[in-house]
Formats: sequence, C-alpha cells, structure tokens
Amino acid sequence: MPKFIFVTGGVLSSLGKGIAAASIGALLEASGLKVTIQKLDPYINVDPGTLSPFQHGEVFVTDDGAETDLDLGHYERFTHIRTSQTNNFTTGRIYYNVISKERRGDYLGDTVQVIPHITDEIKQAIKSVGNNNDVVIVEIGGTIGDIESLPFLEAIRQMRYDVGRENVLYVHLTLLPFIKTSGELKTKPTQHSVREIRAIGIQPDLLLCRTDRTLTPEAKKKIAIHCNMDGDAVINAIDVETIYEVPLALSSEGLDRQIIKKLSLPAKEAELGHWKDIVRKIKEPKNEVTIAIVGKYVGLKDSYKSLTEALTHGGIANDCRVSLQWIDSEEVEVNGPEKYLSDADGILVPGGFGYRGIEGKIDSIRFAREKRIPYFGICLGMQCAVIEFARNVCGLNANSSEFDLNTPTPIIYLMEKWYDFRKGKVEERTESTQKGGTMRLGAYPCVIEEKTLAHAAYRTKEISERHRHRYEFNNAYKGIVTRLGMKISGHSPDGELVEIVEIQDHPWFLGCQFHPEFKSRPTEPHPLFAAFIGAAVREKRSLFPQAEIIGREKGLD
Ligand code: GLN
Repeated sequence: MPKFIFVTGGVLSSLGKGIAAASIGALLEASGLKVTIQKLDPYINVDPGTLSPFQHGEVFVTDDGAETDLDLGHYERFTHIRTSQTNNFTTGRIYYNVISKERRGDYLGDTVQVIPHITDEIKQAIKSVGNNNDVVIVEIGGTIGDIESLPFLEAIRQMRYDVGRENVLYVHLTLLPFIKTSGELKTKPTQHSVREIRAIGIQPDLLLCRTDRTLTPEAKKKIAIHCNMDGDAVINAIDVETIYEVPLALSSEGLDRQIIKKLSLPAKEAELGHWKDIVRKIKEPKNEVTIAIVGKYVGLKDSYKSLTEALTHGGIANDCRVSLQWIDSEEVEVNGPEKYLSDADGILVPGGFGYRGIEGKIDSIRFAREKRIPYFGICLGMQCAVIEFARNVCGLNANSSEFDLNTPTPIIYLMEKWYDFRKGKVEERTESTQKGGTMRLGAYPCVIEEKTLAHAAYRTKEISERHRHRYEFNNAYKGIVTRLGMKISGHSPDGELVEIVEIQDHPWFLGCQFHPEFKSRPTEPHPLFAAFIGAAVREKRSLFPQAEIIGREKGLD
C-alpha cells in the first residue's frame, strides 16, 4: 500500500500549491521512489472541459482523453508520471458518482449524506490512483476556509485513521507577507490558517511558508510554537526566478529529508544534478530568440500554460532564452501583420475554437510563409496554415466548416466516418451529432514520413500524441495542396487522418493536428519544440551573424 501526502493551501490562492505538490513529486522521484499526484478540485463542474479558458486557464488533456485541471500539466512536467482520468476529481464528479449510485439503488434505501457517502466516495477516488506507487501526493484545490472544500478535508482527515497514522502526512502551504512599515515578515495569517485547519481536525506535519525573502530562524521558531509543530517542520518556500528552481530551493530547506524521515520511506539521497542543469540553462542561456504567439486569449497566460512551458523546454534544448510576444489576432486583422511580427524570430499559432480572430491568424501565417520566418501551428494553428496555403498558394476559396458552414471549399471539415484507433472502431458522425460534436480526445498513433522536418525532429517513424479537436483535414484536397508544395509528413496508421503538414521550401514551417505541448518536459523537451526553437536560433544567426548572441558577450561560449 502506498503512503499518502496531502497538500493543502491557506491564506490566499495562487501561492503555487500545484508547483509545490509537483516539486515534492520531483524530489521523491529523485530519491528513487515511485510517485503519483492527484488533484481534488472543489468546483461543481464534472470536468474542466466545459470551463471557459478565461475563467480556469488551460484544459490539460491526458493520454486516456480526460480533460483535466492544468495542475496535472505541472505534475507531468516535474515527474515521470503520465496522468489519467483518476488523477483529477472534482466535487461535481464525486456527486455525479454518488447520485448515479443512488439512482441505481446501490444504497438500498439508506439516507444518502455528505458524511459518510460523499466522503467515502472521495476516499475511494484517492485510493483508486495509487496502488503500485510508493507515495501518492494529493493536492486539495481551494483555500482553507472555503465552504466548498470541506468534504475533501473531512475525507483526508479520516484517511489517517483508515490507512494508519504512520502512512499519512499533511503539508500546508501558506504565505508570510512582508510589511514595509514594520520591516518584517508577518506570521499572523499563517497562524490563523493553521488554526483553521486544526479546527477541522488536521494538524499539519510540515508547513511550507511562501516568502519573498529569507525566513529567519527566530521567525521559524515562533511559527512552530504557535502552530504546534517541530521547529524543523517549518520550511521556507522562498520566491525563485523559475518554477524549475522550486525543487532545488525546497530541498536545500530539507523538505525531502523531512518527508522521508516522517514517512519512514526507503529512499536514497536525492540526485538533483539534472534540475541544476535545467536551471542553469534557463538563467544563463547562450542564445536568445523572440517567439510571437498569435492567439485570442493572449491576455490570459494560464490558457496557454503547457504551451509556454514547452517553449521554455525548447529553449533548454538549444541553451536559449525564449522571450514571448503575445499578439492579439484581432489587432492583426486591423493593422496587418508587419506591425506586430517584424521582430519575431519564430511565429506560433496555438489551438483555439471559433471564428473570431481567425483571419488575423491566417494573415500572420502568410507573413511567416512569405518572409520565411520559422512557423509552428498547433491544432487550430495547423488548420489555419492549411487554409492559408489553399487560399494563397492554390488559389482556392477555402475555409473550415467550423468558420463557414457553407464554404465552397471545406478543406477543414467534420469527417463523417473514420476509424478511431483509440476506441478500435469506426466512428460515425451524422448531422445531428455534429452539433454538440464528439471531440477527438487523448492519445492517437501517428506515422511519420522520412526525409521531413517531423522525422528530423522525432527521429522515429511512430509516435503518439494527444488531441483535442473536432475538425480534420479534408482528404479531397490532398492532391492539390501536395502538388503545390505542402507535404503531409504525419498521418494516422491507415493514412486517413492528416496529423502533420509542412512546407518544404521554407526554413521551418510545420503544423500538427495534435497538441505536442502536453507531453513536453524540462528534462525531455518535446522534439517539435526543440526543432522549432532550433530553427529560430539558426535563422536569427544567419540573418544577424553579428548578434551571435548574448552568450558571446557573457563569455559563455
Ligand atoms: N477548433 C478546432 C477544432 O475543433 C481546433 C481545436 C483546437 O485547436 N484545439 O478542430
């Protein structure tokens, strides 16, 4: 049976609870343990797939096609975990399960209540994730004091009695604000937060104190006494420059050793060399490029969390800092692409839905193609690249039927019949199912053609990548686009679904129907992101050899 670490948060939200949970995972893996991480979210939506990116940030997609909270992306990036549906439960899903059981008559006439029925369902969800792991880390969404997270807290309180005190650890993350007038870090909000969680019956074993400066030993001692804890259980989680430095910062405070000791885990000394290397490359890179991201939700960086991380990873692979320029595609529609894209070393159009801003994306792609600037199109960005090529190279009046149902040339469309390799059966869509529309979700196999940009990047013929879309490339137009210079370099094993397109006479122009950003890690940068950033570095060098680049000046070469 695994041991359990429950991570809660106090004082206020956005303290980095997800990164803290992921970092604990990273440290335990570095100590030779097998871990998994689960997120319990207090909102009522059954899954995050229906939430607006404006409200909730990115929807992270797992191999098995679950639409989950973006924190699962952090878990996968910081560890070797590949998450699935069982790594994310919302209050909505828990209630949905309980209500379905009640409708089926499973409770045999019992009065169905929050305690024990909802809490039992939560405990079952927690136990469903971990069997072959040494440690299961469970992050509880929300902040202590919220009404809606109470059933989760009650369930994790009970867990200690279900699985044994020695098998459970409670970690609480709080904030110590620095108040200028008194010139010190204030401990009172932390004291209140711990008092609140103790009132629920949970005594934190370890406290992670987020600060913007070093916490003095005296302050640690004060917190420990007020919060009923050992002095060495108060750990300073100090602000760092990059999230990938968090495991190192927490380890230097002794977090991993404390966890290993308190849970009596069979672990070795943490091996953190690769994290040090990553942090060095992020902080002191030899190169620098600017990538323009042309999208719709550009004010909301959380909507593109995995994407921005994957670009950073592409930078790590090339010892390169990746500066991002966020371009609103509707502004490109008004003012033209030159104004926004002339300084970009690479242009990227990410995934998205709906017609608004599409023409600006297509104009930006034309600019990238004609000015020979490296271009990377992801999902919608691939579909727009196909439309751009069909319009401006093939002379077709092309569109996606998502944007114009009556387009004469639906080069991107809803495929009516296709073989679903994940489900192992033929999927059919009719007019009526097209409306709400089934999405192609999760991991699908893709075959790569040799002598292509995709093959140069992946160096293998068979890959698996994650999808989240409804529309597909229309094979009726394969002939004309390939004759005029677009290469289909990746497709489903039966050749029916177009997964990757590229333009051959161009420094680097590639669009993929899947979302490669979901599988990139700082320790294993995704091949396409590494290749895209590599091309941006190369092209910048060839255009501005004198700019070779910041590393020379810094004497890093
Ligand atoms: N809107 C497009 C589709 O549904 C692209 C989706 C995406 O980019 N994730 O196919």
